[in-house]
Amino acid sequence: MSIAEPQFDELYREVILDHYRKPRNAGSLGSPTHFAEGANPVCGDEIQLDVSIEGDVICEMAFRGQGCSISQSSASMMTERICGGTIADAHRIMQLFEALLLESAEPDPALGDLEALQGVAKFPVRVKCALLSWKVLKEALENTNTEPIAPQGG
Ligand code: ZN
Repeated sequence: MSIAEPQFDELYREVILDHYRKPRNAGSLGSPTHFAEGANPVCGDEIQLDVSIEGDVICEMAFRGQGCSISQSSASMMTERICGGTIADAHRIMQLFEALLLESAEPDPALGDLEALQGVAKFPVRVKCALLSWKVLKEALENTNTEPIAPQGG
């Protein structure tokens, strides 16, 4: 007996393993303007994300994390794809990626390497792995790390 594992040949395509073994933008930033972290307890995935934003451009990103190859490679591909673009671009890519995984949409060329995760759409449990870093990014874009949030009066 074995719990049905995803079909590795399809799921763990070469590009996914490459990002997993050699994560792009791994580490941390000296003084990120934005930060968020998140976890996917079902799988044991964790992601911490530093983002540096100037104006409306995402200049630098760095992530730390642990977990399965899907979660970590998705984070690596995300930083590679999003870094250097505008915040609006990031939200657009995020929507395309969510459509790819949640609605089995056709991959948009704008996704780049992220298209490799298309096969994950067939495995709902793994979709959470793939979307973890994006959930964290969404939170990071809403949180600034530079100053404590002042309590709002009334
Ligand atoms: Zn996972």
